[in-house]
Amino acid sequence: MAAMRIPKQLYQQIIDHCKKEYPREACGLVAGVKGLVTAVFSVPNVASDPYSNYLVDSTVQAELFRLMAAKNWELTAIYHSHPSGAACPSESDIRQAYYEDAFMLIVGLHRTKPDVRLYRVQRRRGTYAQARLLVLGDRKNGGGTLRPRGDDGFCRSWSGGKEFQCPTGRLTTMQSVLFPR
Ligand SMILES: [Zn+2]
Repeated sequence: MAAMRIPKQLYQQIIDHCKKEYPREACGLVAGVKGLVTAVFSVPNVASDPYSNYLVDSTVQAELFRLMAAKNWELTAIYHSHPSGAACPSESDIRQAYYEDAFMLIVGLHRTKPDVRLYRVQRRRGTYAQARLLVLGDRKNGGGTLRPRGDDGFCRSWSGGKEFQCPTGRLTTMQSVLFPR
């Protein structure tokens, strides 16, 4: 899986969430099937210093992993923002990249236009490499065309962004794309 494909609406949810949390770091989980994003979960950052770190709430994460397993979604990426730095993995980002099969998506907000980059991080080796991020429905980002009613297994319809109540009572935001059966 060398690239991640994300529908524009879900991509926008990530950007909006990161801007909303500014100057704190925002974080969330990105679910998908074979590199195609199906849902974005914006979750609370419970780091002790959210201005320079992020930590996905472990209880929310466990709930989301269960939900994703039930839907046969993979953990495609984990995202977080860098409110005042470049969109490059920091040393602590690499140290806490426990899910090596998932991409790391970083949104840098140090410029007027968000700087969004995708990485594959190998925690144990302490290395990372940039990966391709394709925004579907946005040609400027090289993402190709979104075919809402295509017969190619692509998404058919959007569910609007909706608040998603984890059984723990913590509120997170979920937006997802429905696949044709
Ligand atoms: Zn970081």
